[in-house]
Amino acid sequence: MTVSHLRFGRDPIRSTYLVEPGMAGFVACHQTVFTERYDLLAHAAPGGVFLLNTPEPPERVWDSLPESLRAGIADKGLKLWVIDAYRVAQEAGMGRRINTIMQTCFFAISGILPRQEAISAIKHAVDKTYGKKSKRLADLNYQAIDMTLANLHPVVIPAQAGIQEATSSTPAFPHAGTSAGVTDLPAFVRDVTLPIYRGHGDRLPVSLMPVDGTFPVDTARFEKRNIALEIPVWEADLCTQCGKCVFVCPHSAIRARAFPAELAANAPASFKHVPARSKDYPPGTHISYQVAPEDCTGCGDCVEACPIHDKSNVSRLAVNMAPIGPLREPERDNYAFFLSLPEFDRAAVKHGTIPGSMLLDPLFEYSGACAGCGETPYIRLATQLFGDRMMIANATGCSSIYGGNLPTTPYTVNAEGKGPTWSNSLFEDNAEFGLGMRLAADQLMDYAKVLVKELATELGGDLAAALLDADQREEAGLHAQRHRVAALSEKLATSSHARAKELASVAEWLIRRSVWIVGGDGWAYDIGYGGLDHVLALPYDVNILVLDTEVYSNTGGQTSKATPLGAVAKFSAGGKATAKKDLAKLASDYGHVYVATVAYGAKDTQTLRVFHEAEAYAGPSLIVAYSPCIAHGVDMLYNQRQQDLAVKSGHWPLFRFDPRLAEAGGNPFKLDSAAPSQPIKAFMDSETRFAMLARSHPEASERFLAEAQKAAERRFKAYQELAQGHPDATKTGA
Ligand code: SF4
Ligand code: SF4
Repeated sequence: MTVSHLRFGRDPIRSTYLVEPGMAGFVACHQTVFTERYDLLAHAAPGGVFLLNTPEPPERVWDSLPESLRAGIADKGLKLWVIDAYRVAQEAGMGRRINTIMQTCFFAISGILPRQEAISAIKHAVDKTYGKKSKRLADLNYQAIDMTLANLHPVVIPAQAGIQEATSSTPAFPHAGTSAGVTDLPAFVRDVTLPIYRGHGDRLPVSLMPVDGTFPVDTARFEKRNIALEIPVWEADLCTQCGKCVFVCPHSAIRARAFPAELAANAPASFKHVPARSKDYPPGTHISYQVAPEDCTGCGDCVEACPIHDKSNVSRLAVNMAPIGPLREPERDNYAFFLSLPEFDRAAVKHGTIPGSMLLDPLFEYSGACAGCGETPYIRLATQLFGDRMMIANATGCSSIYGGNLPTTPYTVNAEGKGPTWSNSLFEDNAEFGLGMRLAADQLMDYAKVLVKELATELGGDLAAALLDADQREEAGLHAQRHRVAALSEKLATSSHARAKELASVAEWLIRRSVWIVGGDGWAYDIGYGGLDHVLALPYDVNILVLDTEVYSNTGGQTSKATPLGAVAKFSAGGKATAKKDLAKLASDYGHVYVATVAYGAKDTQTLRVFHEAEAYAGPSLIVAYSPCIAHGVDMLYNQRQQDLAVKSGHWPLFRFDPRLAEAGGNPFKLDSAAPSQPIKAFMDSETRFAMLARSHPEASERFLAEAQKAAERRFKAYQELAQGHPDATKTGA
């Protein structure tokens, strides 16, 4: 939740401070769900205005409000105004964007400026913001402003409302302890997370802060943000169980489970499950695709990804969006039941297929990333595949904000209570930070091996030898090593050997850790590039994941060296005049680095394959992942379509460079995308970051377009030559 304090005065206001409680003449709430969670009226001044965005019609609003809020309104004698801003936005063609609408309401009600003067000023501001980007966007905003006034209503407060004793607001985490799979709140969540979530973090004593700065994981599940207006509904009869909806979900809010049918005997009546179609599972296995209704953001990406239509009604897919109203309660119960089912045996799951891998539980869930985020599916996928073995060094940027924001964290744990280790370092040293994790993990494994050798007789020669010689590159080997470590721990628990305790304390490190160095293009291409290059130049086993949005997203859209030619960004108002750095190609020139470019919306099977290959490679790996972002000026509903267009136009060719192939005498360079089938113009015209230049600098736009087309053709030809065995492709470094 964002709380903005705004002050107006006849004279310039020269100092910054927050509005005091009880002093705000106008309070607005843009999300209805907040009325159940926060004390919204603490800052309202007696006789002031409270504006609420709500889907309820004006005559029903009063009865729909929580009692504490009604009491507060009556007690302070507030005037209540309402608008269904999401409906207005929808009808005006603005999707879910309600900022302009709520701003118009403020000026229309507050009387700070004469109404017409205020409306003209807002339209002028729209022109300034969108005029150069897109006439269509400006027109839509104009339309929304005009429609706002007709849909803004005062609410008559019933006389009998009277003055009541205001009770405290309904707490945040509204369903903790009820049916959402959340039982008692852990002490830390109750004492620290929850107060911060309610906006009272500044009241916490320092003594409650963790002394070493370590915060517990597994806390995003308590939020239940309830921001979706529509959620997906699974049509079990149509579904082919391909798993694509799960694969693309940025919020881990639609999931798949395979389970013995008898486990569903006591399922809620509306819980959907059908026999598993694949022969990979034992007879009697059922499967369910279930949405988390209170964690879904309503982005619609899962529906966009679904390839299956009803032949008798092509608008009906195997998963469709529907208003959340009547679905919230039953789906909440269904999701709680779904979570109570055990994860399918990881050793039996086909990790190399989309439907198989999507049965693996994500250990990254319900992040606060933008609805439809193009980055988070990559992180979720990595946690599904490599789970509790992951150690993540996260560069500052979007991924560190949604990955470790206070008060909750989306990283979570498996049924054994184990999950990824995560930490955020500086922008400029993240690669080195991750390298340190690798060295520490290797050191601990080496030490554990020394102790295993010392205790070999006590442990039994076979177990000791197997622990020491384990091949842990692939899932089967890792699975076997986990069993050995469990057997080792059992033996050590009853051992009287002087070093048994010491070995027990490091035994877990005998399981190979999967180190991931994660960040955006601002880190990898720019600020952290020196360190990244340093780590790539070394032989250590690290996996570097670059979430490439081609711009500094989190800090507001500044140009990075990943920004493509002709894109408008901050510091490139006239379009970026130089080409994007080819980071993947540069890294492949070392010869010993596994390198790949991916775009899951274009080729999900290639993305999955790359993650497996990179992780299994015993040296440094670099995955450069195309990540659509709101900064591109696209509707994130079409996230996957934009990825596909980026690949088909030659903007983002897909390739893999695998040094293992060169060692085996083959060509390490594999081109995974076909020759461009669309002109680059089709891609650039579809994104505001390029298209706005045609309005502001038409000649430059034409020139960049022509240059970008040539560059895309040139790059694809060069990649083709490498794939066909050009000498450079087999270069293995000095
Ligand atoms: S609508 Fe978006 S957040 Fe919700 S389940 Fe589908 S992909 Fe996930
Ligand atoms: S994408 Fe469609 S067909 Fe595939 S699993 Fe999801 S609902 Fe079923």
